[in-house]
Amino acid sequence: MYRPVIALVGRPNVGKSTLFNRLTQSRDAIVADFSGLTRDRHYGDAVLGQRQFIVIDTGGFEPETDTGILKEMARQTRQAVAESDAIIFVVDIRTGLSGHDQDIARFLRTTQKPVFLAVNKAEGMLDSPLVGEFHELGMGELHPISSAHGQGIRSLTEAVLDALGLPEEPEPEEEFDHDPTKPIRLAVAGRPNVGKSTLINAWLGEERLIAYDMPGTTRDAIHVPFERQGRQFELIDTAGLRRKGKVFEAIEKFSVVKTLQAIADANVVVLLLDATQGVSDQDAHIAGYILESGRAVVLAINKSDAVDDYQRETLQRSIEQRLAFLKFAEQVPISALKRRGLSSVWQAVARAHASATAKLSTPKLTRLILKAVEHQAPKRVGAFRPKLRYAHQGGMNPPIIVVHGNSLDGISDSYKRFLEGRVRDEFKLVGTPLRIEMRSSS
Ligand code: GDP
Ligand code: GDP
Repeated sequence: MYRPVIALVGRPNVGKSTLFNRLTQSRDAIVADFSGLTRDRHYGDAVLGQRQFIVIDTGGFEPETDTGILKEMARQTRQAVAESDAIIFVVDIRTGLSGHDQDIARFLRTTQKPVFLAVNKAEGMLDSPLVGEFHELGMGELHPISSAHGQGIRSLTEAVLDALGLPEEPEPEEEFDHDPTKPIRLAVAGRPNVGKSTLINAWLGEERLIAYDMPGTTRDAIHVPFERQGRQFELIDTAGLRRKGKVFEAIEKFSVVKTLQAIADANVVVLLLDATQGVSDQDAHIAGYILESGRAVVLAINKSDAVDDYQRETLQRSIEQRLAFLKFAEQVPISALKRRGLSSVWQAVARAHASATAKLSTPKLTRLILKAVEHQAPKRVGAFRPKLRYAHQGGMNPPIIVVHGNSLDGISDSYKRFLEGRVRDEFKLVGTPLRIEMRSSS
């Protein structure tokens, strides 16, 4: 499912970050902030009803001088426009129309992308004649909003998503009964120069390519279908690949948006780390996003040909410290350049996919939960002791375990992690996150 990208632009202090927070926090407890990926842009997942999209905030710049502001604003706005499908141009009703707003408007008029003018800080004055002042910017309809108080946000967002033609009812996510003949969707993610193109070429050089799509005029990630040992795969491009003769080469720089979209779209993500470097902020942010998306993951440690034992141990420690939340993922040392370890990656991908789509039977889950409680009961919350009664599977990729019972609201995260460990052991699940949901009947 393609997630459109909406960029927030505007001069400093109009309320872009506040709007960003409001849009991304609407998503149930899942807020992705990718401030570490680029210095000056934040990326977040947002949802309105059933419709999911990505928001970019261009907020974080504070040039000292007035000319500095102009240059920086122009740069930020250009980048945001390049990466997005639509733009929300934020202005501030409290300060009124400014020359900097005019500068941004002038630039935005030259783009082909839809622009929506949000007149922010308009709490209590959504109908005020002051709003009309901004018609001067020539950006069409005005959308008075208050990011701080949450007014007008919904109708603004609906207008944007409607204009992009994003359907109200998306295709159903992964169907619960996974069809084993369907291709496994695979994304190779990692920061620039970690070896993504090299790995993809090493793979695709070995495997039979069924067909490939040339990147078209759409911004949709290209999908390269191929086959390996009788299994169908679909590689989701994160690197802006183009085929040149027999090899694929990256035509674009690292694209955060492409990476996020490919991860959201994949069944399994191969996250490449560079053995010659430690785990960077960027690695940790991509890893965090994979976890939040619920995707299965394999950690492929590339350039293993170029390190000694000391570097290997250093990297290992840095993985343990910084990627502790991916403890469930298998680690595979590889060399994309020397084509070493590639079949181990496939095996790990297959195991992760099998785990992510495993069927967990209700009687087995229920027995396991009851046994776990016998071993260690959850703590009493107030006057009630939580009572776990039975469990069933509520979804796959990631597997969701729904536990039913009474007074389950106060069950701690650490107790959920304990149950998760039990489920992992019992069903031998590797390489996939698990979700445990509590459903109380009283
Ligand atoms: P940015 O620089 O464009 O990202 O602006 P911020 O989101 O950091 O907001 C700048 C200031 O405006 C902060 O003090 C916010 O609290 C305030 N602000 C943001 N949205 C609103 C709003 O809807 N109403 C009011 N009154 N203040 C707001
Ligand atoms: P991408 O930006 O992630 O697509 O990275 P590339 O595939 O373009 O690789 C970046 C650089 O790392 C190139 O110079 C590659 O030759 C080098 N490289 C890739 N894989 C390996 C590897 O396994 N070992 C070594 N020593 N170098 C590698």
